Amino acid sequence: DAPLHELDPDVAAAVDAELDRQQSTLEMIASENFAPVAVMEAQGSVLTNKYAEGYPGRRYYGGCEHVDVVEQIAIDRVKALFGAEHANVQPHSGAQANAAAMFALLKPGDTIMGLDLAHGGHLTHGMRINFSGKLYDVVAYHVDGETGQVDMAEVERLAKESRPKLIVAGWSAYPRQLDFAAFRRIADEVGAYLMVDMAHFAGLVAAGLHPSPVPHAHVVTTTTHKTLGGPRGGVILSTAELAKKINSAVFPGQQGGPLEHVIAAKAVAFKVAASEEFAERQRRTLEGARILAERLVRDDVREHGVSVLSGGTDVHLVLVDLRDSALDGQQAEDRLHEIGITVNRNAVPNDPRPPMVTSGLRIGTPALATRGFEARDFAEVADVIAEALKPSFDAEALKARVAALVAAHPLYPGVRK
Ligand code: PLP
Repeated sequence: DAPLHELDPDVAAAVDAELDRQQSTLEMIASENFAPVAVMEAQGSVLTNKYAEGYPGRRYYGGCEHVDVVEQIAIDRVKALFGAEHANVQPHSGAQANAAAMFALLKPGDTIMGLDLAHGGHLTHGMRINFSGKLYDVVAYHVDGETGQVDMAEVERLAKESRPKLIVAGWSAYPRQLDFAAFRRIADEVGAYLMVDMAHFAGLVAAGLHPSPVPHAHVVTTTTHKTLGGPRGGVILSTAELAKKINSAVFPGQQGGPLEHVIAAKAVAFKVAASEEFAERQRRTLEGARILAERLVRDDVREHGVSVLSGGTDVHLVLVDLRDSALDGQQAEDRLHEIGITVNRNAVPNDPRPPMVTSGLRIGTPALATRGFEARDFAEVADVIAEALKPSFDAEALKARVAALVAAHPLYPGVRK
């Protein structure tokens, strides 16, 4: 029963170093967040030891009376949170939630439509060498070159031409809201299922700050670790009619034993997500992204070829467009890393630079909002980023400004090494 530091100092040292990194830098990767200590406690619990193939009340193993309670709480909470008829909380990740949802609704060779990866879609929405691109016939839709917004006329035209069995609406890198009602109308016209992948914006939906896809979609998938701020994992919501198909696609279709420790952590996160404090945090997340977008298109930044895709944001992230900048996505990511800000480079639509270099940055505000950032802090971090994207910059001065923001908003003050 030796603690980690004694049993395995090598792993313990890396975990400690990661805690240091999270505490001492500004996390602005749009898909990341900081889970509450209680979520991590549930995830680190003895539930990791339990096999529980099946569903609450119908398991293939004995001794499931307590994990049944936990899983049912998670199911009930997430259904209430999003107003869904059915929920499956077992997918190990967002990718597995999507794989199971597609497995439930499609046969190999069926046609699906999804947003092109290079235009902000996710790998699981039909990328060529992902399972979704290999198993299904993919027709990709795009954003409009002028507005930077999904081209619904193209979606309608492609749907009518290709008669897909499933249309996926959702994104990993897109700064605007989708029109779920329009997607559903098009899906109905061609007899397709509508699946919305709300992984990125689920927290905003939970807080009532983003339209909910649930009334419009046959199936809604999500991760639990992005804006939702829970443990890494996935969830599938659906109509009651599809419940059986979804459940049997997850188990035994795609997975074996569920991760009940992670499901416990999901349950805790859903409780948090129903709170007023969570809604307030999501409001600061959105406000932060708007401030960032505004400050990155000031004249003194713009003159160096920096702009933001679609001219702004309605969500928790901003896509910086560096197509006209001497700085490429890799260099910009490295510069921000040097001064203590973590972001990821991201291809922009019709990117002239190679995929490992790119001409864009994806910058998100959820993790900083969780850290307690308010409007004035977001304004300061936006100005620091703006300075770092200019041709010449004073790294030491910017590092000091980042350090001041870090010190003003301690992360996990109670977590001991
Ligand atoms: N769906 C979307 C829209 C995502 O952005 C992501 C992750 O980035 C996923 C699914 C996959 O989630 P996971 O990394 O948990 O498999």
